[in-house]
Amino acid sequence: MLSYGWGGVCIFCGGVKLSKEHAFAKWLHPHLPMKPIANHEAFSEHILLTHTDSKVKVRSGDPHSGTVRVVCETCNTGWMSSLQEAARPALLPMVQGKRSSLHKRHLQNLCGWVAMFVMVNEWREKNRAFAGVSQEERSFLMENGVPPKTWKIWIGELARPGGIYHHTSIPVAGNGVEVDMIDGIPMPNTQVTTVSMGPLFIHAFSSSYPRASVNQRLPAETMSQVWPIRHSPVTWPPHKPVSQAESVAIAESIVNYGREKARRLRITGNRNPK
Ligand SMILES: [Zn+2]
Repeated sequence: MLSYGWGGVCIFCGGVKLSKEHAFAKWLHPHLPMKPIANHEAFSEHILLTHTDSKVKVRSGDPHSGTVRVVCETCNTGWMSSLQEAARPALLPMVQGKRSSLHKRHLQNLCGWVAMFVMVNEWREKNRAFAGVSQEERSFLMENGVPPKTWKIWIGELARPGGIYHHTSIPVAGNGVEVDMIDGIPMPNTQVTTVSMGPLFIHAFSSSYPRASVNQRLPAETMSQVWPIRHSPVTWPPHKPVSQAESVAIAESIVNYGREKARRLRITGNRNPK
């Protein structure tokens, strides 16, 4: 499938008339912490077999105000706007720190929204080498309003709300799966995004590598799996809030997995492991 996201076309449909997509829905802004977060760490890392290319940008002010210019006006005002509205009843109470009971429809809309957020924001750097979501996955969301079943999403509650946006992409090859190479650089096919909105803490994992998400697990005491939907309703918050140390460990779990995998590959010198 042709991959969009090149040379100023819409990452979802390939349309050319781009508009500014707010990283967070406008209706969310008034409900985010009033006190501006002085330093927001936006971390993105691309793990390669040979070295790790990471970018840490410390943005001042409100981390939620950034705009990303990678979607067209038709998508932005059409299905994306509908999804923003549909997700509001599920998202808003949690962002405000209110106890919630999420039924099936809530969970579908919430996870569709999270996937949309992940897909748009991983293009912040306008660099294909940082984007781990495939065109097939983006098209799936656009057509169905929910992420593919190969995605896994969890939600928790931060003990101390703070501005977190952490994104990592890695190329995973083997078992008959090859990664795209551009200028000799393997393109990622797997990504993980960790983001907070008020006390709401979200972790989303996705991969085009078959069954990669099966082994991804988080402690159920602090993080509830909301995608794929295993049961409903899901009550939020989970039993225990997530401490700052735990939130860092969760955000970096895949990074450590990728580094370990890359380290072993370098030792064996096998670039296409089974
Ligand atoms: Zn579009």
